[in-house]
Amino acid sequence: MSNFVWCHGPSCHTSHTQDRIRGVKGSKVLRTKKVQQTTYNTGMYSYFCSQGCYNDFAHKHVREVIAIAPRTEALETPINVTKEQREGWRGTYTETVINRVDNNGG
Ligand SMILES: [Zn+2]
Repeated sequence: MSNFVWCHGPSCHTSHTQDRIRGVKGSKVLRTKKVQQTTYNTGMYSYFCSQGCYNDFAHKHVREVIAIAPRTEALETPINVTKEQREGWRGTYTETVINRVDNNGG
């Protein structure tokens, strides 16, 4: 008994690899790969056999995916910016240090 889903890559069944060949002589096919459902296959890897199939799916369905959580305005992270002097192998230099401001602590 194996627990699997078919790879969601729209072109998975067109890749010329031996592990996709199914059927008997005279009526062979390239078949979509199975993706085993294990504790190691998490996130996108529980639905796609490869990064390539994930990319194909994302490119084909990007509008639908974006419609789930559209970004209509920019997000901002409050920060403090300071200039700090550092010693390097070529002498002193100024580094711009960005620190996140924690708004939760008041
Ligand atoms: Zn695939």
